[in-house]
Amino acid sequence: VITGTNERSHLNAARRRLDLATTSAAPVDLLVVGGGITGGGVALDAAARGLSVALVEREDLASGTSRWSSKFAHGGLRYISKGQLSVAWESAVERNVLLTTVAPHLVRPLPVVLPMLSSYPPGSRVVSRGVLGIADVLRAASRSPASLPATSWIDAAAARRLAPTVDARTTGAYVHVDGMLEDDARLVVAVARTAAALGARIITHCRALEVTGHGVRVRDEMTGEEHDLAARAVVVAAGVWSGGLVPDVPLQPSRGAHLVVRASAFEYPRAAFNVMLPGTLSRFVFACPRPDGTVLVGLTDDAVDQITDVPEVTEADEAWLLEMVSSGLTRPITSADVIGRYAGLRPLLSAGDAKAGGTAADISRRHALLQRDGIIVIVGGKLTTYRRMAEDAVDAVCRRLGRGDACRTRSMPLVGAPGPDSSDLPDRLQRRFGAEAAAVADCGGGHGLEPVAPGVPALRCELEWALRVEGALTVADVLERRLRLDMVDDWRSAARPAVEAAVAERAGG
Ligand SMILES: Cc1cc2nc3c(=O)[nH]c(=O)nc-3n(C[C@H](O)[C@H](O)[C@H](O)COP(=O)(O)OP(=O)(O)OC[C@H]3O[C@@H](n4cnc5c(N)ncnc54)[C@H](O)[C@@H]3O)c2cc1C
Repeated sequence: VITGTNERSHLNAARRRLDLATTSAAPVDLLVVGGGITGGGVALDAAARGLSVALVEREDLASGTSRWSSKFAHGGLRYISKGQLSVAWESAVERNVLLTTVAPHLVRPLPVVLPMLSSYPPGSRVVSRGVLGIADVLRAASRSPASLPATSWIDAAAARRLAPTVDARTTGAYVHVDGMLEDDARLVVAVARTAAALGARIITHCRALEVTGHGVRVRDEMTGEEHDLAARAVVVAAGVWSGGLVPDVPLQPSRGAHLVVRASAFEYPRAAFNVMLPGTLSRFVFACPRPDGTVLVGLTDDAVDQITDVPEVTEADEAWLLEMVSSGLTRPITSADVIGRYAGLRPLLSAGDAKAGGTAADISRRHALLQRDGIIVIVGGKLTTYRRMAEDAVDAVCRRLGRGDACRTRSMPLVGAPGPDSSDLPDRLQRRFGAEAAAVADCGGGHGLEPVAPGVPALRCELEWALRVEGALTVADVLERRLRLDMVDDWRSAARPAVEAAVAERAGG
């Protein structure tokens, strides 16, 4: 079991240099391309089975889709309404594994209110009850913990206590409980560090240029040098970018946009809530309170042909989300309430019906394990099911190598699990670092518990921790992926000078 501040889990610039040099010198059992949740999960699973592993990531851990999620560890309600019960089951099982064993410090129960408005079409309440009823069966069958109770019905007054601005036409609401991630990027970093503690080499800012079944040609993006890394097996887990490295990856990416809104605009909701999309019986936009005093509003779902490195929220996305969420509120939300926005590309598997004119919402959320010219490719799926995806991929690696133990990750807590030892520490540190919170607090010297900049929720000690322990190398790594100040425009700009100074000092020293 890995707890506390196991030094073998520490990632930093010196370790990265050594790991790249060692991997250039002799073959590893497994080379993983991609440092999102899927690649991180594969590296962890393989290292836990006793294989030698190196992971290369062209930019930073969680610099792709894995940081642009809605941050739900969810039980798959949406799949139920589309009849994909096996996907929903896998989600429900993996949500439990995260919540109880693997990352209880980063995943917590989240009440979700589904208000029923008198203006909703006839049948909507029956459909909602049916979907939630199936979710309850999966919940019970997957032995969900007591913190995820069965669906209940509350009256309109109780619904407004949880979500004060829901529409006055609310006749009552269903309440179910799902899983919420503190931060998707933080989950990726925890997975990668746990892999590192078991000996995996995590090499960020190292781009795969060419991939074969026996190795990868890479460019060190910090120096410009190229290296040939040899391996007995190669797994590509490059998400929507996998098709740029390997032929015939059947993906149809779909853009999902979110808005970050001041919690005051929703009168500080205590639960997430859904608003049904007009003309549908089971599609919603959601508003979800976040622990940092914001509310996340999502989500669009539009198939795209262009794969950009950093997808953008368009004016049309923003207008649509504001209109849809406001259609279920007493007080509309406007652009003036929006303090941040982000979009991501879902790595959805193409389905026949997409070509026949289906929408992105019809395309499968399943994951796929492909073999291409001796390369193993793992794509699709979602954050919640990363562990299961990794298990499938490493099973295939072990078959190829003819060795490797059985999967161990189901009962393996990540660094920081199960949670903080002391409640005297700032709430933010407890929520984000779990059992490591005290070590993080000690890391920043005399001013460690002061904010990085006025009005910014991140603390100075987090900045130091990111550089010393969490493998952050650049200003963007710290700002966007470790402190997560990319969520709100003002936070990012206010904190930038302090982060630039710390990164420059470290590079100089
Ligand atoms: C809008 C949106 C909302 C979502 N919400 C949820 C949710 O609430 N819950 C949930 O469970 N799932 C959610 N998902 C799904 C989930 O986010 C993704 O399935 C998951 O993050 C994909 O992870 P990945 O590691 O496969 O891909 P990525 O995170 O994209 O990782 C791929 C990595 O490969 C790297 N890479 C690419 N090319 C190269 C190269 N040549 N060399 C080296 N590295 C390379 C990239 O930089 C990237 O870091 C959501 C997705 C979207 C888009």
